[in-house]
Amino acid sequence: ATPTALLVGTGRGAQMGVLIKGPEVLESTRKVDTVVLDKTGTVTTGRMALVEVVTEAGVDRAELLRLAGALEDASEHPIAQAIAKGATQEAGELPAAEDFANVEGKGVQGVVDGHGVLVGRESLLAEWSQHLGDDVAAAKARAESEGKTVVAVGWDGQARGILVVADTVKPTSRRAISELKALGLTPVLLTGDNATVARQIAVEVGIDEVVAEVLPSDKVDVVARLQREGKVVAMVGDGVNDAPALAQADLGLAMGTGTDAAIEASDITLVRGDLRSAVDAIRLSRKTLSTIK
Ligand code: ADP
Ligand code: MG
Repeated sequence: ATPTALLVGTGRGAQMGVLIKGPEVLESTRKVDTVVLDKTGTVTTGRMALVEVVTEAGVDRAELLRLAGALEDASEHPIAQAIAKGATQEAGELPAAEDFANVEGKGVQGVVDGHGVLVGRESLLAEWSQHLGDDVAAAKARAESEGKTVVAVGWDGQARGILVVADTVKPTSRRAISELKALGLTPVLLTGDNATVARQIAVEVGIDEVVAEVLPSDKVDVVARLQREGKVVAMVGDGVNDAPALAQADLGLAMGTGTDAAIEASDITLVRGDLRSAVDAIRLSRKTLSTIK
């Protein structure tokens, strides 16, 4: 049956900024026991800024910014935008990158001013036998222990330094997560970012379960694994990366501030891009369905 109560529920949701694709969505919402949360852009603002540059000995800081910035200027990733912006501010206009390629979940590669440049995870550089020196590696570990995201930069066969970008937790995330827990739900943080950064953010917002260093194509597998364990899973995300996982979840919730791909793959859009709306959605479905019975 599709009782009027469900339609009233979806209408009520719309007033609260919770756009529900169909009345039946409220049914799946009620059964959810696990909420998988994407980190960047969902729990955090996703608006990162370049906060630190550390170079290997003999490397010119402005050159590192120029080459890395030029490459990142061609990428839409929030990390890339922060780097391109910071680099422009300090090093001026950036040259164009050629042969640009995105290495999914790892970084970017391309040619700038005739140099073959890599920017991304340390493991991406390691694939090309480029390794950070001890001092830079120590600076990287320190920044990561502070919850910051560090990407490595290399060109012409050598690691040249790191760029530190910092993202901030949305002011409402901590409160929303404690409310999810109070409703009996288990939040799980899911991210492609490294485990140290992920854990730091998790501690900040009160999440106990973390799945980090997950490739974009594997996010969907994490959701499927939880489902095989008998969990009824809601997934909240914002990125193109999150779309398959949002579709796989029993309930997909997209940040209204996120990408079209995420919104299309989801059952619910949280217009305000605020995790507290996810709590509103779950409360609403419980209330709506309890009035039907
Ligand atoms: P998330 O799951 O948190 O949204 P992604 O899966 O998009 O993160 O990326 C995982 C990691 O890959 C990032 O934390 C970063 O280290 C690296 N990475 C991805 N894209 C880029 C890029 N354009 N520039 C630098 N590093 C990148
Ligand atoms: Mg994301």
